[in-house]
Amino acid sequence: MFDKILIANRGEIALRILRACKELGISSVAVHSTADEDAMHVRLADESVCIGPPPARDSYLNIPALLAACEITGADAVHPGYGFLSENARFAEILQEHSIHFIGPKPAHIRLMGDKIEAKRTAKRLGIPVVPGSDGPISTSQEAISVANSIGFPVLVKAAAGGGGRGIKIVQKPEDFEAMLATARAEAKAAFAEDSVYIEKYLAEPRHIEFQVLGDGHGRAIHLGERDCSLQRRYQKLWEEGPSPALNEPMRESIGETVAKAMRELEYLGAGTVEFLYDNGNFYFIEMNTRIQVEHPVTEMITDIDLVLEQIRVAAGGDLEISQSDVKFHGHAVECRINAENPVSFRASPGKIVHYHPPGGLGVRVDSAVYHGYSIPPYYDSLVGKLIVHGKTRGECLMRLKRALDEFVIDGIETTMPLFRALVREKDIIDGDYHIHWLEEFLRSGRMNG
Ligand code: ADP
Repeated sequence: MFDKILIANRGEIALRILRACKELGISSVAVHSTADEDAMHVRLADESVCIGPPPARDSYLNIPALLAACEITGADAVHPGYGFLSENARFAEILQEHSIHFIGPKPAHIRLMGDKIEAKRTAKRLGIPVVPGSDGPISTSQEAISVANSIGFPVLVKAAAGGGGRGIKIVQKPEDFEAMLATARAEAKAAFAEDSVYIEKYLAEPRHIEFQVLGDGHGRAIHLGERDCSLQRRYQKLWEEGPSPALNEPMRESIGETVAKAMRELEYLGAGTVEFLYDNGNFYFIEMNTRIQVEHPVTEMITDIDLVLEQIRVAAGGDLEISQSDVKFHGHAVECRINAENPVSFRASPGKIVHYHPPGGLGVRVDSAVYHGYSIPPYYDSLVGKLIVHGKTRGECLMRLKRALDEFVIDGIETTMPLFRALVREKDIIDGDYHIHWLEEFLRSGRMNG
């Protein structure tokens, strides 16, 4: 096992990793920018190192500074969390070259899944159903039109290096390709310094259902069921729940086993998420994320398995101690992402939290790094915290969620909490009857404005 883990992240996920380190008796090192001197992860870690000024490229993405921090503190492993360097294969390799363990997948798998065209090809080869589309990158509008004609309009142009919904464009008719290809390329180039794009059939009203996996890198791998992340705005998830209201046990077992088998064949190491669109009883692979995800607590609540702890164990070379038959699902969990944003316009609302009172009680978990009097810096993402609620049934879970949301007080900044308070009272949400465009339609309906 590791002696000392450096956490190359901030906010709630840094705290989440710290908790796992403490439970395992491993020393922890926090890193921080000058804007995060007062952050909770810095206060709770055994040691901390300032790695640069506020902009992420100068601090949390600054590989030489992170290496120096490992050197100074003697850390023998790095946990990257999510975002920042978590899916940077080169970072994982550089650490290895310095005899420091990367708590995550093998660099080759990070690289493979980071190219969404290669990821789809691999999924197909491993027997995972994929969304119909181009077999490789698309260079001309003629090529695009010919693919679109064979799969049918509308189609999506997507960035091969994609992430966060950037570079995704919908194309309704052949004449629009010229402009849309150019825009998608420009967006991809700006965001990922790589402008390769591909085409996929646009599914009208699917659900986003993703499977959590864990592997030990030697051919043992399991799935931990699914999360339904269909409630999104601009391709960003806001509410995640598990199990999906749309799946039953045989469906879960069948696709779950397909996914786990693929991970065994890959000899996948660590935690990962295989993302699907689900439409009319069919699953279509869209991508795989090779890291811990924001919504991982949903899975932890319904399986009682600590995913971060397992990540650390397998990264240290341990065997996966959990077998598929050990994974038992119980009850229902929902996660709400509470962002420092206006709940109607979604404009960022950084600033000082003048009053903070998180909810409690049975089945209520709050993963957050903020506190009374904390000032949210304007430099990073707007996640204030995650409210995760568990119940024996979906009905009990929603009842508890409603109560927990009413109890939660965050004053001084605007948050997305009023949106969730409205959602738990919506009939479609109560019925579990929604798809990936439901939330945007709800927001357009003006019901949030009162
Ligand atoms: P990113 O990596 O940018 O997050 P994804 O491929 O994961 O991109 O897709 C993000 C979201 O975009 C999905 O959750 C879904 O809502 C929507 N989406 C992606 N592919 C399709 C598709 N083929 N048809 C309809 N919606 C899609």
